[in-house]
This record gives sequence, structure tokens and C-alpha cells, in this order.
Amino acid sequence: MRLDYFLAHTTSWSRKDAKRFIAKGKIRVNGEVVTKPNTPVTEECNVESHGETIQWRKEKYFALYKPANYVSALEDSESPVVIDLIDPEERKNLKIVGRLDKDTTGLIFLTTDGQWLHRITSPKHDCFKTYRVECADVIEESECRALESGVMLNGEEHPTSPAKVVKLSDKEILLSIKEGKYHQVKRMLASVGNKVEKLHRESISDVNLDGLEEGQYRMLTEEEINQF
Ligand code: URA
Repeated sequence: MRLDYFLAHTTSWSRKDAKRFIAKGKIRVNGEVVTKPNTPVTEECNVESHGETIQWRKEKYFALYKPANYVSALEDSESPVVIDLIDPEERKNLKIVGRLDKDTTGLIFLTTDGQWLHRITSPKHDCFKTYRVECADVIEESECRALESGVMLNGEEHPTSPAKVVKLSDKEILLSIKEGKYHQVKRMLASVGNKVEKLHRESISDVNLDGLEEGQYRMLTEEEINQF
């Protein structure tokens, strides 16, 4: 593979950052400074940046800022899908970690690592996802308390798990939940008599969208990957 691909795949740098660092002579391959982004490397090469070895990672972990109107799927006959936003070279074996509705914006992960995916989506693992929720009607304190303690969703046998609610304004809250039932946030607000007008996922555990524009993605850092 090319050196700039190796670096964009194993660090939080974009391909453009990688090219810049290589051109500046910051990268060594097997002890030699290299300045060409297309220098061929293998998984066994010792690639160093600022004296630190960069380990090749077999699995891929991406954070993507999903725009509205994209479907959280690998293919769809009518609409664009989130995988379209990923560099074709990186797409192989990627799975989408959970789902956001077509009209929902915000943070979504993609990975090739099935066990890691499970740790994020399974409610057993207490991985909170935080949504900015704009509603049609004023969100009363009683609605917030009900959402926090758990509400019965249409068609479910058990109430939702305890959630965290922060009121931002009359019609806007931050809602953190660890489950990911179908249309869960919209159904939770419907169960307290309100209606979601706009939904945006701000974070998954401690990972947020800082530094990403709509439609952009980045590799997760080692620390971010290991927190799950
Ligand atoms: N809950 C919803 O209702 N929709 C989403 O996209 C995510 C959570």
C-alpha cells in the first residue's frame, strides 16, 4: 500500500495531513526519512513519526458526521447511503454501528470489528449516545422526569432504561440513552405527548463531532477505540 494510505488508516490524520507530514520529512520507514506519499509500505514496515512507531491496525474504526437525507445502510435503491461518504479504498468489510434515521444528522461509527460494534450497540455495555432533540411543543419538567426514569414505548414490553436529560431551552433537550430501539428517541418523545422536529446525535460516550463538517469522517484514535 501507499505510505499516505497507511498513515491515514492508522492515525487520526486525513490523507492530506499525511501527505503534508511526509513532504516535511517527518516520517521514517525502516529508519529512513521518506518524502514521497506514494512510497510503498507493507504491514511489516517500521513506520515512525516523531520517533514513535505507528502500528498497523488490521481493523478500521471511523467516526462520520452523517448529513440529513443519507440512509444508514450499505446500499439503497433510492437514496444516498452513508458508505458513499467513505473513500472507496476504505469501504471493504465496513459495517455501520447502529442506525440513524434518514432525517437524523450527527455522529455515526463504521467499523470492520464486529465485537467492538457489539459493545457499542448492546444496552448491556452502558454506552450512552447523546442526542440534541428539538420538539414541536414546550418540553415540560414532568416530561423530562418521565424520560429520565423510563417510558413505555408503543409495542414494547418493558420501559426504556433510565436516561439523562439536560434542558437547553423550552423546546430543546440533550437526551442520553444507552439503548438503540427502532426510532427510539422519536417514540420516547411521542410517549410523553410531544413530537420530535429535529434530531442530531452529538456524541457516543466521550467521542463527539469536533473537527468534522457534515459529510466528513476521520479515523478514531487508539484511546477512543479502547474506551469501548
Ligand atoms: N432515535 C430516533 O428516533 N431516531 C434516530 O435516528 C436515532 C435515535
